[in-house]
Amino acid sequence: MTGGRLLQGLTVRVPDIPVSEHVVLDAAETALIIVDMQNDFVKPQGRLYVPSAEKTIEPIRRLLEKARRHEVMTIFTQDTHYQRDPEFEIWGEHVVKGSWGWRIVNELTPVEGEIVVEKTRYDGFYGTPIDDLLRVNGIKNVVVVGTVANICVLHTASSAALRWYRVYMPMDAISALNEFDYYLTLRQVTFLYKGVVVKTVDGIEFRGKGGWKRGQA
Ligand code: ZN
Repeated sequence: MTGGRLLQGLTVRVPDIPVSEHVVLDAAETALIIVDMQNDFVKPQGRLYVPSAEKTIEPIRRLLEKARRHEVMTIFTQDTHYQRDPEFEIWGEHVVKGSWGWRIVNELTPVEGEIVVEKTRYDGFYGTPIDDLLRVNGIKNVVVVGTVANICVLHTASSAALRWYRVYMPMDAISALNEFDYYLTLRQVTFLYKGVVVKTVDGIEFRGKGGWKRGQA
């Protein structure tokens, strides 16, 4: 059976989404999670290019630098596939381990001491040590940024919220393939998970030092 076109081009109204201008988070209880900012998603030559992802590099870089200054625990997720991954039937081949497209974009290269977690599914918590890492470090808040908004970002934010971490999501640091997907992400985060959407990364302030040390780049 093929799908009809009943909903094609349907216009819907976005419900009110509360947006915070400024939040202050205790650096010791907060982790920054940067989702899948890899060449295949972010760069035009990538295999699953999200055109709006490039303009999020700069805000994410500013937030990352702030996290580094305040010694905030930082986790990069890295979408990772091997041959015959069932996801390839949906999206085509992408982020094959070891390929250029799999690598995190140069602008956001993790430094020594930052955590990189390879994940095989949309959800950054699925089959990874993220929950354990957050828990043993007394983390209560997660700031989730990256791409793709309604896919890996939302599934990771959802998984965090379902484990009772408080989710913060700056609007200028996530990207989606279209506006609908972008706004539904913000809607889910605020309405379903009682997370906090913040207007820009500059509205996120870390209080004190988190004690997460880094080496050199
Ligand atoms: Zn994937």
